[in-house]
Amino acid sequence: MSSVFKKANVVVIGGGIFGCAIAYYYTRNHPGKRLVVLERNEICNAATSRAAALMTIIRSKRSYIPLSMETYRIVSALETQLGESLGMKVVGMMHLAVSEPKVRELEDLMTIAEEFKQPAHYLTGTQARSMAPWLDTGEAMKIGFMPDEAYCDPYLLGTFFARCAKHNGAEIVQGCPVTGLLYANNVLCGVKTSRGNVEADIVIDAAGAWAPVWGMKAQVGIPMAPVRSQYWITEKSDIFPEDSPIVLLPDAQAYARPEGGGLLFGVREKRSLYTSPEKIPPDISHFVFSEDKGMNDLAENADKLARFFPAFYETGIKYYVAGFSGYTPDGQLVIGKAPIAENFLIAGGCCGAGISVAGGVGLAVAELAAGVRSPYDLSAFNPERFGTIDPFSVEWLEKCAASRSKKTSG
Ligand SMILES: Cc1cc2nc3c(=O)[nH]c(=O)nc-3n(C[C@H](O)[C@H](O)[C@H](O)COP(=O)(O)OP(=O)(O)OC[C@H]3O[C@@H](n4cnc5c(N)ncnc54)[C@H](O)[C@@H]3O)c2cc1C
Repeated sequence: MSSVFKKANVVVIGGGIFGCAIAYYYTRNHPGKRLVVLERNEICNAATSRAAALMTIIRSKRSYIPLSMETYRIVSALETQLGESLGMKVVGMMHLAVSEPKVRELEDLMTIAEEFKQPAHYLTGTQARSMAPWLDTGEAMKIGFMPDEAYCDPYLLGTFFARCAKHNGAEIVQGCPVTGLLYANNVLCGVKTSRGNVEADIVIDAAGAWAPVWGMKAQVGIPMAPVRSQYWITEKSDIFPEDSPIVLLPDAQAYARPEGGGLLFGVREKRSLYTSPEKIPPDISHFVFSEDKGMNDLAENADKLARFFPAFYETGIKYYVAGFSGYTPDGQLVIGKAPIAENFLIAGGCCGAGISVAGGVGLAVAELAAGVRSPYDLSAFNPERFGTIDPFSVEWLEKCAASRSKKTSG
């Protein structure tokens, strides 16, 4: 087991994809500076390893797009550094609209794609069906296709960041819970861990769903809440070819992509399940999100899904995956510093898009930690945009959960 730096320029709480990406960019851009990531379990064990990992670039939230574009850019640099392939699946993303409002949203997305110089075009129903044989396009009013969109193995991407960061000199310590914040003369100067104190000029809270717990200790109400994301994977069938695209069904608030010969699909439930950050156990591998494994939500949405996926009722479900993501009421990330807490930086509020934006978040937060201006406009992600909030109150948690229930994007 490696020793923990006792003194570093930066200490990161949490070795999920955000913590690992921050470590990579900081050590790449600021050689000679010391950074340590403290992870209480194994890196990428929590939300990161559970993600469906759609790496959506083109979405209605323009603020996310440059961050996701950075993720795509950096994948090839990580692959070169490690001499290994991430095996990213660039299969494209189809958007199928069957109502006037969703057609208008799709038209807006096509404009956004043009603005960001991303390829996009419309498909006929026959073309769409030949690419995704499980899909019924009969009701489609318009079908858009973004051929450069991809999905990946999220655990592998997180560990690629971590391994490259280690090569660059970062220390990544696993099995090391942060147990408290360290203050000298009322100024934050590091963290306490199960293996002793780590002094640092900057503390970064990248603790995922647990981030508000550390925020509170620094007197900062981090405006996000842990909300369950869930998806199912069907049994194998020839109607789910490995190279078929990701499909977004905004009228059904659903998405799907191939996975191991089956179909991985998710739906947004009417009322999303949430909890208070203090109530999530440190290891969620045995955590029971709901006894019914989301089956009631699936039943509630079954007819909506079957409208587009006629074989739905005859296809067996093999796997169920659930995890907590940090949601915010406006669906924007929480990135930056809360002026009330000197030396405390936040990288959270992923809103179920943390794999796709990991590159941009890592770069932006690494630069802020080094006292350099972020290359992106982070104003939409300002941790203080909701004023003073209590991240543990039921009213706040419900507000955040509602933002997932309304989601129609990937
Ligand atoms: C079911 C599901 C589907 C998803 N699908 C997608 C998708 O399609 N596309 C997409 O982009 N995103 C998706 N996401 C979201 C994505 O997984 C998250 O946005 C991303 O993983 C967040 O990374 P993180 O580093 O912030 O959090 P995490 O990966 O949760 O990492 C936080 C880490 O902090 C550690 N930690 C907490 N407290 C302490 C402590 N006291 N001391 C030390 N360590 C601590 C935890 O152990 C954990 O490893 C999905 C998420 C889920 C759950």
